[in-house]
Amino acid sequence: MRESLLKVENVKLSYSSEYGSVRAVDGVSFDIAEKEVIGLIGESGCGKSSVALAIMGLNPGARIEEGKILFQGKDLLKLSKKEMQKIRGNSISMIFQDPMTYLNPVMRVGDQIIEILITQDPSLKKEEARARTIETLTQVRLTEKVLDYYPFELSGGMLQRIMIAMMLAPKPQMVIADEPTTALDVTIQLQILNLLNSLQKSEGISLLLITHDLGIVAEICDRVYMMYAGKIVENADVYTIYERPKHPYTAGLIGSVLTIDEYKEELPTLSGDVPDLTDLPSGCRFHPRCEYAKDICYKEEPPLIEIDPGHQVLCWLYK
Ligand code: SF4
Repeated sequence: MRESLLKVENVKLSYSSEYGSVRAVDGVSFDIAEKEVIGLIGESGCGKSSVALAIMGLNPGARIEEGKILFQGKDLLKLSKKEMQKIRGNSISMIFQDPMTYLNPVMRVGDQIIEILITQDPSLKKEEARARTIETLTQVRLTEKVLDYYPFELSGGMLQRIMIAMMLAPKPQMVIADEPTTALDVTIQLQILNLLNSLQKSEGISLLLITHDLGIVAEICDRVYMMYAGKIVENADVYTIYERPKHPYTAGLIGSVLTIDEYKEELPTLSGDVPDLTDLPSGCRFHPRCEYAKDICYKEEPPLIEIDPGHQVLCWLYK
């Protein structure tokens, strides 16, 4: 039986703004099994990074109004700061879009990885930590030479490899990668993606990939959750999402990345912008951009409907 490593249950999260409280995540639920790769997809501002930071307990400006985040059955939202720090150090790691926001610019990268290992296991001797660091650098296809470099001496692609090495060194069970390739140029993106993909398999890690890029989702994800304006609007296995997208938003996004030759059927196009969370449309949040909108879509929020086993859609078209 499929068992969840991480289970996010009906999480509602808001921020304070000059317009009052703004709910950025509205009832999001999903789960990840061991060794599974999940894609949390959506345009910028849809709430996907807020979900990632909430899992990591790194979102001090956010107020979690409702919900649970269960990791191995333990609700992370109920842990003390110290307990959460331990989870972050040992069990769940996060790869950020810009490694420079995470790396210390005035410390050699080797020392930064060694420090992480010794913090995680204070009984580790410096030579042992150094040997483990070299081993991890080899895994991310870097040589021992980079141990002595400062972050500013490395290229964007090398920095992202260092970031991946730092996250892998404590041997976590789960990694959250938030737009890990967005800041890189196309050829390097592919190298980093292939690296993440092969490490996920060889290390048996569960991976939560947060991205707006449907191309990279197709490469590595098992299952996909589409987010729009704070809600999950569709979820299914990756094959179903690409072959039979049912929500007009998913279909529009996929239509916009397929080339003419790849068109299997007429998919709608996606026009317009994501709504302002301080002024959401009534009814279905997608209705101003939806070419299938009907009367009820303007008035009532759609229900989540299971149209096939393991395929759910938040849309009035299937009621
Ligand atoms: S509920 Fe209505 S407006 Fe929303 S996606 Fe479905 S058809 Fe479009």
